[in-house]
Amino acid sequence: MAAIIIDGKAVAAKVRESAKLRTAVLKEKGIVPCLAVVLVGEDPASLSYVTGKEKALAEAGMLGRDIRLPSATSEAELLSLIETLNADASVHGILVQLPLPKHINEDRVITAIDPVKDVDGFHPVSVGNMVLGRPGFLPCTPHGVLVLLRELAIPLSGAHAVVLGRSNIVGKPLANLLSRRDVNATVTVCHTGTKDLAKYTREADILIAAAGRPGLVTADMIKSGAAVIDVGVNRVSDPRSKKGYRLAGDVDFDGAVEKAGWITPVPGGVGPMTIAMLMQNVVEAAEIYSRSISGD
Ligand code: NAP
Repeated sequence: MAAIIIDGKAVAAKVRESAKLRTAVLKEKGIVPCLAVVLVGEDPASLSYVTGKEKALAEAGMLGRDIRLPSATSEAELLSLIETLNADASVHGILVQLPLPKHINEDRVITAIDPVKDVDGFHPVSVGNMVLGRPGFLPCTPHGVLVLLRELAIPLSGAHAVVLGRSNIVGKPLANLLSRRDVNATVTVCHTGTKDLAKYTREADILIAAAGRPGLVTADMIKSGAAVIDVGVNRVSDPRSKKGYRLAGDVDFDGAVEKAGWITPVPGGVGPMTIAMLMQNVVEAAEIYSRSISGD
């Protein structure tokens, strides 16, 4: 039997609607949630991500402060801008679109963001809070995957989750969130040092592919009935498409859909969740600010 195709757009729409309602409550108190979006350079993929975020902010009734800087911007200039945004009470969240040009140290820039405005959840303080299970901003893509799994009522407690990838923004936080006591999955993390990847993936009740390798996961690597979450977004050349490429995940969808129990498409699966969780984090940052000024 073919898998249930997970509609990430539908789940994301629910999350965004809730962020919109929370925004309306804040507006009654005179606070309009505002995200500063900083883009350095003109990378086309980054530009399209930034445009998507700004559209989502407008739809939720929030403000986007769009800051575009030339690729020659120095690290000192960027750090000084972040200092200004940290001090600006009308800005509740700060997002610096990654990757940054090579001459800028990303760690230094992320660490310069005030953790109360770190809506991407990449600051070491946010990461520490996540690992310790304390309140704080969770990174949007891993959090979005967790919300998807929960919304679909996919059994998590006691399940074996296998995560392909160990990046700081996807694989590592996902592995951490899935092994939390309130989620209770048993987690295996695979990477390029893993010998015999298929041995692990075939054991997965939940298989999360975040390797950035199109077609890495084929049907024979999937346990029958597993939930397959494809985080990968890869440009593969396609002469039939106007742009000359199409987007593909890490999973061979056509084969996997016949074997899995649930599967996310690319696009339309995890991608929309990332933006939705960002909207949730921005409204949360504004709520934190609202409480801080009212003394609640
Ligand atoms: P990344 O930093 O390049 O990390 C990729 C990870 O996958 C690394 O840990 C790497 O292992 C591992 N890997 C690569 N090839 C592998 C292989 N053949 N077998 C096993 N492991 C392998 O990428 P990322 O930033 O985590 O992103 C991963 C993918 O998700 C990309 O396609 C990206 O575009 C996509 N993404 C999507 C969203 C979304 O909203 N949908 C958000 C973020 C990222 P090593 O550590 O050993 O190198």
